[in-house]
Amino acid sequence: MRKLSFVVLACLMAAPLSARRNDAPKAEPETKAQVIVGCKETKLYHRANCKWVKEIDKAHTRVDFKSVAEAKKAGMKPCEDCKPGE
Ligand SMILES: [Zn+2]
Repeated sequence: MRKLSFVVLACLMAAPLSARRNDAPKAEPETKAQVIVGCKETKLYHRANCKWVKEIDKAHTRVDFKSVAEAKKAGMKPCEDCKPGE
């Protein structure tokens, strides 16, 4: 009898520990916040790190978009070098 009650007690003590482990917050995937840079002259949009963005800045034809969808709405097409949105 003593042995059995000891096992029950051990189970009761272990339960809160495992429950706590399950409650650990799950790491949420980072939201894809992508800056899209459009060019008024060529009507193409780029990723912010594309080599053409430098040229756009020089020519002062830069338009910033929050997303690929926004750039598309403005009638722009994706750059074939950096392929934004893929
Ligand atoms: Zn590009």
